[in-house]
Amino acid sequence: MSTPERPVSSNFIRTIITEDLESGKRDQVVTRFPPEPNGYLHIGHAKSFSLNFGLAEDFGGCCHLRFDDTNPLKENDEFVEAIKADVRWLGFDWGEHLHFASDYFDQFYLWAVQLIKAGKAYVDSQTAEQMRENRGTLTKPGVDSPYRDRSREENLELLEKMKNGDFPDGAHILRAKIDMSSPNMNLRDPAMYRILHAHHHRCGDQWCIYPMYDFAHGQGDSIEGVTYSICTLEFEDHRPLYDWFIQELGIFAPQQIEFARLNLSYTVMSKRKLLQLVNDKHVSGWDDPRMPTLVGMRRRGYPPEAIRTFCERIGVGRGASWIDLSVLEECVREQLNQTAFRRQAVLDPIKVTIANYPADKVEELDAPNHPQQPDMGIRKLPFSHELYIERNDFMEDPPKKFFRLAPGREVRLRNGYIIKCEEVIKDENGEVVELKCSADLDTLGKNPVGRKVKGIIHWVSAEQAKEVEVRLYDRLFNQENPDKGENYLEALNPESMQTTTALIEPELLAAEPGTTFQFERVGYFTVDSEDSQRGKPVFNRTVTLRDTWAKLK
Ligand code: ATP
Ligand code: MG
Repeated sequence: MSTPERPVSSNFIRTIITEDLESGKRDQVVTRFPPEPNGYLHIGHAKSFSLNFGLAEDFGGCCHLRFDDTNPLKENDEFVEAIKADVRWLGFDWGEHLHFASDYFDQFYLWAVQLIKAGKAYVDSQTAEQMRENRGTLTKPGVDSPYRDRSREENLELLEKMKNGDFPDGAHILRAKIDMSSPNMNLRDPAMYRILHAHHHRCGDQWCIYPMYDFAHGQGDSIEGVTYSICTLEFEDHRPLYDWFIQELGIFAPQQIEFARLNLSYTVMSKRKLLQLVNDKHVSGWDDPRMPTLVGMRRRGYPPEAIRTFCERIGVGRGASWIDLSVLEECVREQLNQTAFRRQAVLDPIKVTIANYPADKVEELDAPNHPQQPDMGIRKLPFSHELYIERNDFMEDPPKKFFRLAPGREVRLRNGYIIKCEEVIKDENGEVVELKCSADLDTLGKNPVGRKVKGIIHWVSAEQAKEVEVRLYDRLFNQENPDKGENYLEALNPESMQTTTALIEPELLAAEPGTTFQFERVGYFTVDSEDSQRGKPVFNRTVTLRDTWAKLK
């Protein structure tokens, strides 16, 4: 028996499929991910496509990538390409199965004609206003359109004319003839086709009528032989409509299964809102590292494996699911902890001079790239008589549990010697500007005899250190549910990005964009892919380290 490549946790959809296959109800698994190319994908979409591609993988089936491109006003090729890149980035492959709803426009039109001929569709010529009025409400049944009983011939002729461009936008609409008093609003003669004189990113100006999403989606699934049409709960009420179309047309019936969408705390996920954040310049673009988009997360340095682990870990259910952002961050840390090279960088420096170390000497210390993974090799770390350490690693008057540097105390320099603080130098304002220390030169890679030194701090050699720009990212919103209040923009965190500098070990200057490092004791940082230049990297804080303090106590 082969071991699965990734941990498979069960969920109700997997259970349904397993039963169907066992009972012979279905003999294969075909799923699909059906994005509309009107924006970039976010972490919620990742949940959806991980599920769809994951199920196909688990059951030896296949998963299609189908763009539901029925609204030319909002869709374009930039989004198509970005979505493809995102799905690939997470490691999924649609193989031969890249599809577009627009591939089926001819077929959809024929089906519309078929429904008219069967007396199941009609052209309505009410104004949008009248239609809204006559639709009724949840408590009030709708009213039949005066055009509902048009003859088949008249309907066919009107549809043809609509298609030929004889009418302006909004003049007529093709509707399914179902039931204006149905308690399900979706069944009150829903629209099938509308007139829209718009250029389509794939069809050009071939069409001036476009199918509604609801008339395209289910039939797209049917054409492709999708056995499990998995979608989010808001489509539950649309299911009877999709089933109605499938049944009236007498075509292959996919099975729709709904699950709860992902809601992530401190985040908004509606495309409209994400677009507004971009357009109103609250962020630098769709790929701003604070965005919940996959392009943003990639730029931030989230590894794709972490996102897949997250999608697996949060599970799939039907109850509203609110997931805390920290769950995602923890997946990122777990992954990076295994793979990120360790480096040293100081963000808030204070100078240290080692009095007993020769002023003209530079030593190249061996430093492992990863403390638990010798395979990752070592790098050379320059050491000299002048260093920088982190300001908060020194306290003049430390509390009992503080094991780092203090007057008369010893601490280990990471990958280096043990030093002792001999003297504190202050400026005229009483601020500490320099620490004069001595090094125990017999402590490289070994413990001192007769005493125990608990604390370890990071450092860089002053002369060799390089200064670089660092962006400290934090949550984009400072309220748990930004959608809750009056205006989600008010929940924006003004401190979601702070720019500062860091002194880094020289080796890091050559770091390639997109590479992530752990700055030891500081956090995970990724070389920005947009704003870095050769020899001048800009570092994005990917995620903080948990328990920086706990380690030192
Ligand atoms: P909007 O919500 O802005 O209208 P959308 O997110 O529904 O847009 P689509 O491109 O239609 O955008 O989504 C593609 C698929 O991703 C759909 O099947 C949808 O159900 C799913 N999806 C979208 N958001 C989430 C989410 N937060 N959690 C899980 N699945 C989602
Ligand atoms: Mg949608």
